[in-house]
Amino acid sequence: MSHNATRQIHIKGVVQGVGFRPFVYTVAKELNVKGWVRNSSAGVDIVASGTLSNLDNLLNKLEFSPPPLAKIDHIQWSDITPQDFPDFTILPSKIIPGEFIPISPDIAICEDCQRELFDPQDHRYRYPFINCTNCGPRLTIIEDIPYDRPKTTMAHFPMCGICKEDYEDPLNRRFHAQPIACSDCGPKMWFQEPGGIKTFHEDGLQKARDFLRNGKIIAIKGLGGFHLACDATNPIAVENLRNRKKRSQKPFAVMGFNIASIVKYCDINEQEKKLILSKEKPIVIVNKRSESGLPDQLSPGRHTLGVMLPYTPLHLLLLEPSQDFPDLFVMTSGNISEEPITYENVEGLDRLDDIADGFLLHDRDIYLRVDDSVISNLDGLPYFFRRARGYAPQSIMFPDSETMNLAVGAELKNTFCLTKHQYAFVSHHIGDLKNFETYQAFTESIDHYARIFNIQPQRVACDLHPEYLSSKFAAEYAQQKNIPLVKIQHHHAHLAACLAENHYFNDEPVIGMIFDGTGYGTDGNIWGGEVLLGNIRDYQRVFHLKEMPLPGGDHAVLNPYRIAIAYLLKNNIAIDKNLAPIAATTKDEMALITKQIASNVNVPLTTSMGRLFDAVASLIGLRQSITYEAQAAIELEQSIQSKTDQSYVFQILDGQIGIKSLLEELISDILINTPVGILAEKFHNSVVDLVLILASKLYESHKINTVALSGGVWQNQYLLKKTIIKLKENGFNILYHRQVPANDGGISLGQAAIINSLKTTER
Ligand code: ZN
Ligand code: ZN
Ligand code: FE
Repeated sequence: MSHNATRQIHIKGVVQGVGFRPFVYTVAKELNVKGWVRNSSAGVDIVASGTLSNLDNLLNKLEFSPPPLAKIDHIQWSDITPQDFPDFTILPSKIIPGEFIPISPDIAICEDCQRELFDPQDHRYRYPFINCTNCGPRLTIIEDIPYDRPKTTMAHFPMCGICKEDYEDPLNRRFHAQPIACSDCGPKMWFQEPGGIKTFHEDGLQKARDFLRNGKIIAIKGLGGFHLACDATNPIAVENLRNRKKRSQKPFAVMGFNIASIVKYCDINEQEKKLILSKEKPIVIVNKRSESGLPDQLSPGRHTLGVMLPYTPLHLLLLEPSQDFPDLFVMTSGNISEEPITYENVEGLDRLDDIADGFLLHDRDIYLRVDDSVISNLDGLPYFFRRARGYAPQSIMFPDSETMNLAVGAELKNTFCLTKHQYAFVSHHIGDLKNFETYQAFTESIDHYARIFNIQPQRVACDLHPEYLSSKFAAEYAQQKNIPLVKIQHHHAHLAACLAENHYFNDEPVIGMIFDGTGYGTDGNIWGGEVLLGNIRDYQRVFHLKEMPLPGGDHAVLNPYRIAIAYLLKNNIAIDKNLAPIAATTKDEMALITKQIASNVNVPLTTSMGRLFDAVASLIGLRQSITYEAQAAIELEQSIQSKTDQSYVFQILDGQIGIKSLLEELISDILINTPVGILAEKFHNSVVDLVLILASKLYESHKINTVALSGGVWQNQYLLKKTIIKLKENGFNILYHRQVPANDGGISLGQAAIINSLKTTER
């Protein structure tokens, strides 16, 4: 046949464990294409023989309609000497030393599996661990590569005849679904009460449901760790959970069986609905209905609530609606306060014993603990607060690099990032490294990612802050492996993260509006209100908030009234006794703060924008002490009712941004009893104005019209949305975060982008 040709095709991306080979097999059969397909440790290889038009069709389908979980990064093909094949076949995997392929995140149960779960005729009817090639656990159960069952926590469960048949049939939707299982052969679920009484299977499930119905708290072993759950509509249950978990005010996330149960309590638009229903099933921050009737204790001081849908069959069975059964449940990480999420049975029973009245457990081990992701809707796409389950370890594409690198991130909201070739793998959210167990999870996870992606770092990047535990770890790591260590300024890393995830890798500098809580500056002060001109390789600091004193350092951060008082004193603003921060201070403490500032003892200087938000929240009377990070700033944003376009004025002089006039105008508004919502909004508008004024100045002087928005302050949705609109109206290009958080969860990506851009011989 003269029109026949043979092509060799190589595909790179997330193409294993996602039903890619059966897809190729089916398409090849349809198109009468002969040859073979095979997984290798570098991706998927295909050799295909057929007519030219059928071969073109095959390539088209591979590129434009792959299976839902596949992510194609690269397709390469060439014509080779025509060959004859009797058939199209799936060949055994080939291992190429040193190579690697990206791994899929854990994915929520798919519609097909959900249908089977509730179908009495199905072999896996009501089986809590049903999954297929399009859904189920991945990252959390993989112990090593290649991703095959023996290298997962499913290794201890030999398949039964039915599962084996499904697993081996290329046309079955469970073909090579590594976690495949059924009630005959797979993991088992049970409910455990105090005293160790265990009830297995369906009876156990019903007991767990009884506990929820009766206002009790249960611990649930889920996909990436334990949840603590209770009836979210029961104020006593919620209050109990707060007290036992020692979490006084930080909001709880909730889960409803379906979208209707969420709509009942929350005001959601179409875009939010789409994100809640997406296959990643993140926690989405949405507005509560004003008459929701939900206990205030779910999210004190906020009109928003984090909501999500069940993402495992076990959650679906547990929350299935029935008479007299609640329809909304708290689903919060199973930990005490800021400790990492618990993930092992023995550990869970021990650590959560004082919190939970009962435990819903199973014997499928979690190898890697991964928290729920938290996002909000920005123009129909996720805007990340926490990037974890469902998204990690999806790669972000870099320019190709000949070296492999490790970036260890910051200290709070830590993530790390490993790079190889054109891939940057940002880890799932790790957390606050000052917690010892979180620190352990950090070091173990670095080893684990390095192993599963086959990365041996040749350079390591860390923050400039000498006291960050991640910096100390990096120094030791560099010494042990005898590789160079590169220290990177915190806000340059924020800027680089924003540039890298927007694929802005050219040398043209941009304007970086880096508004943040805390970051170590090159002058030893605490930076955080920084306007940078720069690119990924380099930066200069062109404007910053004027240095202000923080009496007592961390003590001031926890007590915003101390910040407010210090800022008033420093700016020579008269102390009015009627102001909220003054009322919150004792005479003695006031004298102490005054003395501290005069003598400059234990008074670090800061240019932080986050601290200015804290000071304003205190002056307005919203919050004088905080119980979780950024609480004052968040409550300041939440008090806005969108009623005014007015603003206050910053003073810009010699690269410094002064706040004296802003504070004076704010205080005179406070003293004439202006409503809190107006005060908060006027302050936010002032920051929006500031961004526009500074960007315009820099456009005048440097002809640069691209602005990057990064740093934790940009989690503020009012500020972000209004700034984007204003900058757009004035003709600026805007880069903001879409793939990693604007907060310190993005730092590791920025560090990685910077170190990747350096030649091997630099620094
Ligand atoms: Zn499925
Ligand atoms: Zn089975
Ligand atoms: Fe930061």
